[in-house]
Amino acid sequence: MTFNTTLEGIKTYEAGKPIELVVREFGIAPSEIVKLASNENPKGCSPKVQKAVGKMLSAMSRYPDDSMFALKKALAARFDVAEKEVIIGAGSDQIIEFLIHAKANDNARVLMSAVTFAMYEIYARHVGAEVIRTPSYEHCFDEFYAAYEAHDPAIIFICTPNNPTGDAVDREALYKFLEKIDGNTLVVVDGAYMEYAAHKDPTKAIAPKELIERFKNVVYLGTFSKAYGLGGMRVGYGIASETIIDALYKLRPPFNITTLSLEAATVALDDDAFVQESVQECFEQMRQYEIFAAKQGIEMIPSYTNFVTLQLHNEQKSSDLALALLKKGIIVRDLSSYGLNAIRVTVGTPAQNQRFFEQFMSVL
Ligand SMILES: *Cc1c(COP(=O)(O)O)cnc(C)c1O
Repeated sequence: MTFNTTLEGIKTYEAGKPIELVVREFGIAPSEIVKLASNENPKGCSPKVQKAVGKMLSAMSRYPDDSMFALKKALAARFDVAEKEVIIGAGSDQIIEFLIHAKANDNARVLMSAVTFAMYEIYARHVGAEVIRTPSYEHCFDEFYAAYEAHDPAIIFICTPNNPTGDAVDREALYKFLEKIDGNTLVVVDGAYMEYAAHKDPTKAIAPKELIERFKNVVYLGTFSKAYGLGGMRVGYGIASETIIDALYKLRPPFNITTLSLEAATVALDDDAFVQESVQECFEQMRQYEIFAAKQGIEMIPSYTNFVTLQLHNEQKSSDLALALLKKGIIVRDLSSYGLNAIRVTVGTPAQNQRFFEQFMSVL
């Protein structure tokens, strides 16, 4: 059978390995496995969420509220925007898919950084769009602007903080860049880790309200998968001018968020104390990685997220190291497919991080 030629160049997205797979493949007991590969919150989610979802189990026999009334209202209130400026997706991944389908086709170009979230390219290729990348792996606005002028992209992706490198752009520099972009170019500001960046450095914090008031061609993306600890529930959101949200709604399948996920996200959003505590503990633990990297002479990209990117010495191949760690039950992300000789490690609990440091030393 033949398939659309657009599929030919697509590398299937490689998710962080689940614990179950390591149990099966390497015969390691689940209790011995430390998963630091998908930037999940090691504290889990707010205990209030589990309680609320537990009480709702009987609701699963009915279709969810397709208007997503409660969560949309809560998000609009949190970010001080109108409800019609909000769309909710099955993860912010789904909104990235809507954005590409709304704006790109096989004549279009999609611009992004040399090393950034893999799904931008995959969705762009779905529609046959050409992917243009800036030379540097950190977001450099001069490079972005030069590529914008040269290629006239339909969409520009700015991932801040950036996954998988952890760096973040300055808000003022972003605004200066956006001022130079024409109103028909869609700019996506992916803030999947914004809760972390905003805590660490206010000059990196981007508020969706100010962003979309100043720039009608910009979409802000957020997710419940990272700081809120709800990766398994698949809830993300987009905030933009009504014109953009209306276009995205045309692509949305009905009932794209489950009843239990809507409840989980609504309750999670209300427990800001849990998120703030998680973020603070993450940066306390990140200090241990900084000390470890300095001691080992390993370069660590300063991170505004809940993960660290360790750039290995030339003689150590990141794919070998990741595999050796996997055999010890430590799951990290090898970044060789991104063209970096580096591993990405989610900051875990103190005990998990200790296990990582010990096993890293043992496999070196
Ligand atoms: C995790 C992540 C997302 C999306 O996560 P969802 O679980 O689909 O909400 C989007 N962008 C970046 C940069 C991410 O790291």
